[in-house]
Amino acid sequence: MTQGSDRPPEGGRLFFRTELFQVDRAGAGRRRRQRVTQRTTVTEPAREIPVHAECDVLVVGGGPAGTAAAVAAARLGARTLLLERHNHLGGLSTGGLVIWIDRMTDWEGKPVIRGFAEEFLGRLPKGAISGPPREAWGSRDAATAAWWSLRTAAFHGIVTHSPTCDPEWMKLTAQEMVLEAGAELLFHAWGAMPVLEGGAVRGAVFESKQGRRAILARVVVDATGDGDLFHRAGAASSEDIDERDIHHCINTAWLFGGVDMPAFLRWRAEKPAEFSEFMQRGKAAIGLFDRAFVSWRDDVALFMGPRLAGFSAVDVDDQTEVEIRSHRLMVQHLEFYRAHAPGFGGAYLMLSAPQLGVRHARRLVGVGAVTRECWDGRVQPDEIGVSPSLSPKFPNVSVGYGALVPERLDGLLAPGRHLSCDPSSHSFLREIPQCWLTGQAAGVAAALAANAGVEPRAVPVPEIQRALLRQGVHLRAAVAERVA
Ligand SMILES: Cc1cc2nc3c(=O)[nH]c(=O)nc-3n(C[C@H](O)[C@H](O)[C@H](O)COP(=O)(O)OP(=O)(O)OC[C@H]3O[C@@H](n4cnc5c(N)ncnc54)[C@H](O)[C@@H]3O)c2cc1C
Repeated sequence: MTQGSDRPPEGGRLFFRTELFQVDRAGAGRRRRQRVTQRTTVTEPAREIPVHAECDVLVVGGGPAGTAAAVAAARLGARTLLLERHNHLGGLSTGGLVIWIDRMTDWEGKPVIRGFAEEFLGRLPKGAISGPPREAWGSRDAATAAWWSLRTAAFHGIVTHSPTCDPEWMKLTAQEMVLEAGAELLFHAWGAMPVLEGGAVRGAVFESKQGRRAILARVVVDATGDGDLFHRAGAASSEDIDERDIHHCINTAWLFGGVDMPAFLRWRAEKPAEFSEFMQRGKAAIGLFDRAFVSWRDDVALFMGPRLAGFSAVDVDDQTEVEIRSHRLMVQHLEFYRAHAPGFGGAYLMLSAPQLGVRHARRLVGVGAVTRECWDGRVQPDEIGVSPSLSPKFPNVSVGYGALVPERLDGLLAPGRHLSCDPSSHSFLREIPQCWLTGQAAGVAAALAANAGVEPRAVPVPEIQRALLRQGVHLRAAVAERVA
C-alpha cells in the first residue's frame, strides 16, 4: 500500500484487507433498529408544484464536478443554475475535508488536468494551498521525493502536483467563480426527482424549506456524485459494492488542530520502527486506526479514515451508522494521539466533516466507458480530457465524452465520481482533479446542447473539443490539431 489516502497499489483494482479497514460482518444489521411498521407504504397524492425557475442548464450538486460544470456552461452564455443541498460549494473537497488534490500532473511532471482546475487552484490565496513548487513536479531526486512523500505529494519516488488546500478558501473561490461566470446559485435545496418529458430529463424537483418546487431546464447535469437524478430517471448504473475494495469504503473525515506536524513527520522519518510500533499499538487499542496526514497548515492534521467497509452510501441507516462510528473513532484517535504521538500533545478536535465521505455509490452505464483496456495510451476520438494514470507503469488515460452520456436517457449528463467507467478506472477518475475535468466537459456540452436545441448526445464532438480547448483544457495534440 502506498502512503496515500486512497491510493491503490500498483496494478489497479485492489481486493485486499489492510490494517486500514475491515468488514464488520458481526454488525451486519448494525444499530439498525428492528422497526415494526403497521403499513409498508403510503400514497403520495398528485399535486401541482410551483416552478421556481427556468434555465438552459441545471446543475444538481455543487461538488468539484458541479462547480466546474456550472462555470463552464455559464461562460458559454447558457442561463445556468447550480443547486446544492448544503450551504457551500466543493462537495467532498471542502465539506468532506478531502482537501488533498491528488493529482494534477502526470508522472513526467506535466500538468495534464488544466482548464477550470488550474484556474481554480491558481486563484487560491497564498497560505491556502500547500505543495511542491512547480520546478519540483516530476522530480525523481530521492531526497526531494522522500521529503514530499511524507507530505502527500510524491508517489513511486516521483514528486507530483498534489497540493493540500484550505477548505474555506476553496468554498469561497468556487462560489465566486460560479457567480462571476453569471450562473445562479441555490443553496439548501435538495434535488429530489427529475422532471421527465417524453422520456427525457427536462428539469428537477427539489425540496427546501419552501417545500417542493421545480426547476425546468433544457439540459440537466447530474453532479450529485451518487447519480441521484439519473438513477431516479431510470438510467442504468453499476452498483458493484465490494466489501473488500478500499474504494467502496465510507467514513467521515476530521481535522485536529493544535498539532505540530513538522515534529510528527520528523519522528516518522527518523524513527520508523517507533512509528510502526505506534501504529500497531493504536490498532490493538482502537481496532480501526488511521495515520495523520499533513494539511495546508503545520498546526492542523488531516484524517481521511479510518475507512469503514460494507456500508451502502445510499442507505440512510448505513449513513447514520457510519457517522456514529466515525465520530467515536475521532475521539478515540484524539486520546491515543495526544498520549503517544510526538507533536500531538496539545491536539484538539477542530472539525468533523459536514459531508459523509463516499467513494462510490452508483456509476452510470454510459454510451462509452473508461475501462482498463483504455490504459494503453490510446487517444479516444471523443476525448474531453486527459487523466494522469494510476502509476508510472501506464501512460496517461484519455477520457471520452461517452463516459458522461447515459446509454439511453436524454436531457442529462453525468460527470464526476459517478461517471461511466469500470472499477479499476474509477479508482483514479473519481479523484478531485478528474471530477473538475469531467465537470467542465459536461458543462460545455450541456451549454452547446441547450444553445443548439439538441440532445447532449447529438452535439458534434469536435464542437465540444474546440470549446474545451478555448477554455484552457488540455487535449492530446492529435485531437487539438484535428479540431483546430
Ligand atoms: C475519504 C475520502 C478520501 C478521498 N481522498 C482523495 C484524495 O486524497 N484526493 C482526491 O483527489 N480525491 C479523493 N477522494 C475522492 C474525491 O473527494 C471525490 O470523489 C470527489 O470530490 C467527487 O466529486 P463530485 O463532484 O463528483 O462529487 P462530490 O464531491 O460528492 O459532490 C457532490 C455534491 O452534490 C451535492 N449533492 C448530492 N446529492 C444532492 C442532491 N440530491 N441534491 C442537491 N445536492 C446534492 C453534495 O452535497 C455535494 O456538494 C476521496 C474521497 C473520500 C470519500
